[in-house]
Amino acid sequence: MTAKSDTIIIGGGIIGLLTARELIHAGRSVTVLERNNGAGLESSWAGGGILMPLYPWRYPDAVTALSVIGHKEYPKVAADLYKATGVNPEYVRSGHLILDTDEYEQASRWARDFSRKVSHNKKASFFSRIGSKDISRIEPELSENFLNAFWFPTIGQVRNPCMMKSLIKDLILKGVKIIPHASVEKFNTSAGKVVSVETSIGTKSAENYLLAAGAWSATLLEGTGISLDIEPVRGQMILFKTEPGRLRRIILNNRKYLIPRKDGHVLAGSTLEYVGFNKEVTDSAYQDLWRAAVNMVPCLEHAPVIKQWAGLRPGSKHGVPTIDRHPEFDNLIICSGHFRNGVILGLGSARLAADLVKNPLANKSKINTESPYSIL
Ligand SMILES: Cc1cc2nc3c(=O)[nH]c(=O)nc-3n(C[C@H](O)[C@H](O)[C@H](O)COP(=O)(O)OP(=O)(O)OC[C@H]3O[C@@H](n4cnc5c(N)ncnc54)[C@H](O)[C@@H]3O)c2cc1C
Repeated sequence: MTAKSDTIIIGGGIIGLLTARELIHAGRSVTVLERNNGAGLESSWAGGGILMPLYPWRYPDAVTALSVIGHKEYPKVAADLYKATGVNPEYVRSGHLILDTDEYEQASRWARDFSRKVSHNKKASFFSRIGSKDISRIEPELSENFLNAFWFPTIGQVRNPCMMKSLIKDLILKGVKIIPHASVEKFNTSAGKVVSVETSIGTKSAENYLLAAGAWSATLLEGTGISLDIEPVRGQMILFKTEPGRLRRIILNNRKYLIPRKDGHVLAGSTLEYVGFNKEVTDSAYQDLWRAAVNMVPCLEHAPVIKQWAGLRPGSKHGVPTIDRHPEFDNLIICSGHFRNGVILGLGSARLAADLVKNPLANKSKINTESPYSIL
């Protein structure tokens, strides 16, 4: 008989897996239950891996606080994962250009505050407003139509499928059990605690439970008498293939972005669609994304599009995740609702969620202050 784990994590996306990593580093034993035939195949696979929220000054402080941790720690985490597993998450400090926006006051205030929090080297600039000459120096392939931009030279990216593969391998090497085809269907509770979960492969139990089921989290919680404001929000992407190095910067214009990978792939994203749990791709999204991409970088007109996909983000109010103890069952921790930013927010969220698991007396995480629950 295999030993019972200290913690069961429900959902093998980036949030569940990064929390598993925090817990295993703290000496805990962890089992991840994943409904699919492998972990990391939903939103965390589909995402772009930009390590900064889009237009970050538009978000509440909680998102900035979590982004600070991600910005500071991703380079080291990615390097550690690569060293431990031989699988490179492809962290690249590409720099980020935000084109033609007039929110200079808000952006510069946010950037000043953020760079102070990440202890950015004062000699180098974290943020500047630049004109067309500098835009074409920084990214020569950009259309000449753009007259001004915000430039964030230290913003990086990871390549989601590689990040997930590396993380999974690291966890397995460290003894985490990741069980595929294990769909959690119900929490069994008694005297203010979760005592076990019913799954498609039988009943499983542990001391603690962490719910990190992404867009599916709210559905699972309904059975425990609370409703959580998390809903699926579809995001579609298309993938161009160019020669390596053709495009180097992450570019954002009018809510659409381009992310160049090291090997010449360029992701163009993304849509924001409230269509329930529907992961189909559409022709209209393809056309929109293609037009926006070519408008930014005209040479993409001649590059083949080799793939289109969709993922379901765990949409939440203002993009603020819930990192909290269940109001009735104190050994059930919820970490979900990262919406458009689960990769950059994941490191900080995982740390807070792991703290709640490790410290039964801690109530709420420091970052999420308002209760998001309503009793059904
Ligand atoms: C197109 C797109 C672009 C994005 N770009 C970025 C970006 O550039 N930067 C960024 O930071 N973020 C980005 N995101 C957002 C980011 O990908 C998500 O916020 C993040 O992946 C959410 O992680 P998660 O682990 O909560 O959810 P998921 O990755 O969806 O993981 C949840 C897991 O739970 C499993 N599960 C569900 N129900 C059950 C159950 N009952 N039992 C067992 N397992 C279950 C699912 O199968 C899944 O594997 C993007 C997302 C999309 C779709």
